Amino acid sequence: SVPLSFFGGIGGASRRGILIKGSSYLELLSRVTTVVFDKTGTLTEGTFNVVAIHPEKGVEADYILSCAAYAEALSDHPIAVSLKRAFCGPIDKRRIREVTEQAGHGVSARVDEHVVVVGNESLMKCHGGSWTACELTGTILHVCIDGSYAGHIVIADVAKADAEQAIRDLHEAGVRRCVMLTGDRADVAAAVAQRLGIDEVRAQLLPADKVQEVERLLDQQARGERLAFAGDGINDAPVLTRADVGIAMGAMGSDAAIEAADVVLMDDRPTKIAVAIAIARKTMRIVA
Ligand code: ADP
Ligand code: MG
Repeated sequence: SVPLSFFGGIGGASRRGILIKGSSYLELLSRVTTVVFDKTGTLTEGTFNVVAIHPEKGVEADYILSCAAYAEALSDHPIAVSLKRAFCGPIDKRRIREVTEQAGHGVSARVDEHVVVVGNESLMKCHGGSWTACELTGTILHVCIDGSYAGHIVIADVAKADAEQAIRDLHEAGVRRCVMLTGDRADVAAAVAQRLGIDEVRAQLLPADKVQEVERLLDQQARGERLAFAGDGINDAPVLTRADVGIAMGAMGSDAAIEAADVVLMDDRPTKIAVAIAIARKTMRIVA
């Protein structure tokens, strides 16, 4: 039978907006020594602003933005949502066909009679887009229209207000490693990680690479230690499942995340992870 104090622990957590899906996760949470974070939407707000648009010669900046917003119209990736917001105008979905989204890469779609591809460098390479190398920093969306490179959009996201505090609280609670994984570029990842006090960072990872990275970290754990992964579920539901404790952002996150996770943070605040660990430890002390 489940000791009564477990219900107290789960109830106390839920009053603080932390949904724990069963008493077994209280025990796992109490032993967490590694916390792995996804970047976009977990440590950062996930709402990107358009910083600059760099079109190729003969292409209008507005045209690039509208093509990109149309191609992203059916996606709920934070980048897609942000582009649609930057575009402002209404999107006539009847003009869009043959949409394919490649997790960790980007999207392609037919917009009227044009084939539009929006995404990272490797996606451009497979669609024949090429450009002259330029010194760029930041999150970059390359746009290719009908097989030729049209330009790129520089976008930027900000860290959540409590992200730095969240890492500090975890370290103070005895979590030895805070790791950030991201599909974004290395320069963006390094800047965020340094500002927040993250111990280890891995960038330019595909969803499958994130699973592998978590498996490597799980292998490195000593007996009795546990690993938690926190993500928004967009492209990272498999990692949520693989971790000892999968923690999903509930407000911004996808239904897939809420389904795949063991713990859901209703208000998306990363400081709630240390709160959940503290409640779990207190509950375990009462049980023991
Ligand atoms: P993160 O690991 O930061 O949560 P993702 O794995 O979701 O990011 O995406 C990694 C990268 O893949 C993005 O930085 C972007 O370059 C590209 N990408 C993913 N989805 C899209 C999309 N819908 N549109 C454009 N680019 C995308
Ligand atoms: Mg993500």
